[in-house]
Amino acid sequence: MSTVVTGLDRPRRWDSPFTDDLTDQDISRLLLRPPFADMKADNFPRSAPLPDVLKNDARLRTYAKGEIIVREGDYGTSAFLILRGSARVVLAPGLPPSAVGRREPARRGIFRAIAQLWANSREDEVARKKTRKGSFTQGKAETNIILQDVPRVLDQHRTATIRAGDFFGEIAALSRMPRTATIFAEEDETELLEIRWQGLRDLMRYDPALRTHIDRIYRERALSTYLAEIPFLQHLDEAGKARVMAATQFETYGDYDWSGDYKKLVQAGASAGKEPIIAAEGDYPNGIVMIRAGFARLTQRYGDGHRTLNYLGSGRIYGWNEIANNWRDPGRPVALQHTLRVIGYTHVLVIPAAVIEQVVLPSLPKHLLPDLINTGGTGAASPFTTSPFAKTIAPAAAADKAVPSVAAAEGSDTRVGSEMIEFLTANRYFNGTETMVIDMDRCTRCDDCVRACSDTHDNNPRFLRHGPIHDSIMVAQACMHCADPVCMIGCPTGAIHRDSFEGEVVINPASCIGCSVCANNCPYDAIRMTEQRDESGGILIASDAKPIVKATKCDLCIDQYGGPACERACPHDALKRINLNTLDELAAWINR
Ligand code: SF4
Ligand code: SF4
Repeated sequence: MSTVVTGLDRPRRWDSPFTDDLTDQDISRLLLRPPFADMKADNFPRSAPLPDVLKNDARLRTYAKGEIIVREGDYGTSAFLILRGSARVVLAPGLPPSAVGRREPARRGIFRAIAQLWANSREDEVARKKTRKGSFTQGKAETNIILQDVPRVLDQHRTATIRAGDFFGEIAALSRMPRTATIFAEEDETELLEIRWQGLRDLMRYDPALRTHIDRIYRERALSTYLAEIPFLQHLDEAGKARVMAATQFETYGDYDWSGDYKKLVQAGASAGKEPIIAAEGDYPNGIVMIRAGFARLTQRYGDGHRTLNYLGSGRIYGWNEIANNWRDPGRPVALQHTLRVIGYTHVLVIPAAVIEQVVLPSLPKHLLPDLINTGGTGAASPFTTSPFAKTIAPAAAADKAVPSVAAAEGSDTRVGSEMIEFLTANRYFNGTETMVIDMDRCTRCDDCVRACSDTHDNNPRFLRHGPIHDSIMVAQACMHCADPVCMIGCPTGAIHRDSFEGEVVINPASCIGCSVCANNCPYDAIRMTEQRDESGGILIASDAKPIVKATKCDLCIDQYGGPACERACPHDALKRINLNTLDELAAWINR
């Protein structure tokens, strides 16, 4: 019979500081230098005074010349302030994977995977002593990677110097996106203050000057990085790129801490009518919108309402076809063909039509121009009689498939059906990069998938074979490893984080304090708070007489041989983990 272990301390936010190594002298030294010396201590609440934020959410790190601080593509949730020395950022195109020490992550071998079936505790969700409390580790063990030939890197790559007093890494820390560049120490003994995002959030919240400063550099750096990814800007020379950059606006819709509203919206049954509009069908196409983070819904008038044609995620572009069409055929201009609506928190870039027509289109190779829009002879509800940018050019060749286009987005509804798109959009499933879908026509309810999950996770299956169904496709209640994981917003310790190599959203049980913020934030109910037990099955009870709980969810079998056990276990090919950020994988699976 299970016992009850009582009198334990309930875990708290700073039980697992970022490091145990910061001394009082270190904190005093930091408080004497900018930006901390300029902060008003009175602005910070008693629950999070400035010295405590630094002591618990920051750590000092020293790097040798050539040592890599952050790698392009890695996920990270901290920002850096250079205290001494300098660092170099490698501008696009970045370093090859081998130069930055990339390799496949370690997985359990086949024999360890089999052995775990016998090694599992007889009790559910055992909190072994080492995971009850401990120093903070995020993702895999940190290893030092040193560039072997710094002069060659400097010779062959464009780089820029970041000096003492500068921040970097704030884009990944604040947007939950991968690092956008590799940065390495430029000199020996380069000293950095690394601040995890919970601390950065507090510093920005209670110090308006820092908030303004970080906002500004975030906008500047994000802009140049993002513009470099747009295919139809690749051919521009430096002067052309500079003109586009100067004209581009960086806009955000919604609130960073939007998960509460988001969940209420989902529960209330989201509909296109409630969402803010970025650009409306029938309007003059006065700019190209590129989605940088978050999602937007693409709709078209249908009867008295709207129907959803698609959702656009990071990297997708809106308005390009119409602007290119009007530049090519100024005698028959078209209006915007769709409405673009914000879903949740969305970053967009807006490049004005004037700069596209004056700088981008005239120098674009003709084979990259999209096809003229076929309005079916109706004029596509165009309100224009003349184009303000009339020009004569040669007829276009076929549209370039590499250039993301609205036309491509529209095509997808014929592959999965507009009702399925509506279902996915209404439930916000497009956020999932590893969404568990089950074909109910094939599923025999044998529960082999659930048992396989249970066997690999301390007898606690990390998903429910249950969820909304549309057209015999069920979206199961399992963590989808979202493109924008709103569960991470507000975690006071950073226990829930992205794996730094593959980007899965995982929970570090050692630093989880069981506050349930993540479970409340997840709109998909994919996180369960589970009572913790010791090896003999005793429920762990804190000194306040309540059980100690920790957050658990699907970790995508990150350390398992062969990937997710649920998918491998299904004998009927009924279960699949699918990236729903675009409809391609789902369309291929449905039509297999
Ligand atoms: S826990 Fe929820 S919000 Fe977080 S990644 Fe998983 S499904 Fe997305
Ligand atoms: S319950 Fe969730 S939000 Fe709270 S500490 Fe644990 S992982 Fe973070």
